[in-house]
Amino acid sequence: MFQKIIFPRYIIILLALFFFIYIYSFFHLYYSDYTIQDDTQLLNNNYTSTINSNGFVWPVPGCKTITSYFGYRQGSSVVSSYHSGLDIGAPTGTYFVAITDGTIVNTGWTGSGGFTITLVNQNLRISYCHSSPNFIVHNGQKVSKGEVIGQVGPKNVYNIPNNPYKDSNGNPTNGAMTGPHLHLTIRKDGVAVDPLNYL
Ligand SMILES: [Zn+2]
Repeated sequence: MFQKIIFPRYIIILLALFFFIYIYSFFHLYYSDYTIQDDTQLLNNNYTSTINSNGFVWPVPGCKTITSYFGYRQGSSVVSSYHSGLDIGAPTGTYFVAITDGTIVNTGWTGSGGFTITLVNQNLRISYCHSSPNFIVHNGQKVSKGEVIGQVGPKNVYNIPNNPYKDSNGNPTNGAMTGPHLHLTIRKDGVAVDPLNYL
């Protein structure tokens, strides 16, 4: 009366596949690094940081838009220029966070980098350029990955002696830049490396 139900092999394989996709999508959702924000956002300083598989945290939790990559880039002229870090477009005031645990070793004006905060973790030296001059960390301070260490600075800064950087209106700028963004440089044993190797 009762017949043993025998599934064809392809049904078993399909079920296994669906099960795998189901598990994978869960895993992916849970472990994806951060939510991608749209480009037209205003300040987004409400966030949660997620540690990626390399053990690092994305520097600007509210913004993921990369406006310039590390390495040689084609300029407006025929000559390509070298870019020592990663540019992340973000409005003035946007928080940025420590990408790893470390110690603050510098807060101040660095010329082309404008106001800069530098964090050291062993052989990695991480600089956050074009920051706000209203520093919220100080030299020697230990910080944890994901901790807010500063804000994206304004385009124009004033009263800096011998600042050679100016915008098209002749107003002094926060280093060599055309608009507010975070420039992140990572030096490994003194050599600039691609931040995306870590992020
Ligand atoms: Zn840059």
